[in-house]
Amino acid sequence: MGKVVVPAREGRGIRVGKGEVLRITTPRGSQCADFFAFNAQNTQEFLSCPHTWVTNFSMVPREGDVFLSQYRRPMLKMAKDGAAGAHDMLITTCDQFRYEFFGFVGPHANCSDNLVTAMKRFGHAVPHVPQAVNFFAKSHVAEDGKLTSPPNPVAPGAYVEVEALIDLICVVSACPFDLEVDGWEVSGGHRHELSEIEMEIVRG
Ligand SMILES: [Zn+2]
Repeated sequence: MGKVVVPAREGRGIRVGKGEVLRITTPRGSQCADFFAFNAQNTQEFLSCPHTWVTNFSMVPREGDVFLSQYRRPMLKMAKDGAAGAHDMLITTCDQFRYEFFGFVGPHANCSDNLVTAMKRFGHAVPHVPQAVNFFAKSHVAEDGKLTSPPNPVAPGAYVEVEALIDLICVVSACPFDLEVDGWEVSGGHRHELSEIEMEIVRG
C-alpha cells in the first residue's frame, strides 16, 4: 500500500496488520496528528490513553512503550520517535463543542467527526470517541497544575513509527484547531498554518 495523505483538517483510516509498522509524518512540521487505533476484529476495543499512562509510567509515549486498549491488551508499540518526544496523551479529542467553547460560531471541522467519518468508510460506527494520542503536540502542565498547549515545536519531516501487535484499523486526523487562543496555539492559532499528515506502512 502506498502513502496515505491526510489533508489538512481531515481524517483518514488505514488497516495495519499484526507485525506491520506504520510511519506517521508531519511533512511541514508543527501539525498535530490525532491518532486512534481499533482492534480490527472488534472495533469496540480501542487504544486508551489513560490505560497506557499507568502501564508505561509516563504521560508521553517513548520508544519501546506499548499502547494499551481499554481492556489492557497491548495494541501497538512505539517503535521509533523521530519527533524528539513532542507528543501528548493528555488532551482529549477536539469536537464541535470545543470550538464553540472558544467562541466559534457555526460548524467547525474537528477530530471527533473526522474519526467517525473515517471509520464509516470501513463500515464501522464509533459509539464512543476515544481520547486521541496527539503525535507532534506538546502540552505542558505547570507545577500549579495549569495546562497549556503551546505551539508545537516539531520540525518539517518529523515522524513516528508504531508497530501493530494485533490487526488494527488506525485513523489519523490532521487536527483542525486554528483558533487564536493564548496558551492554546497547538498547530494552528496565529503562529502556524494547518497542513497535511502522511501515513505509510514501512515494514512488515
Ligand atoms: Zn483536533
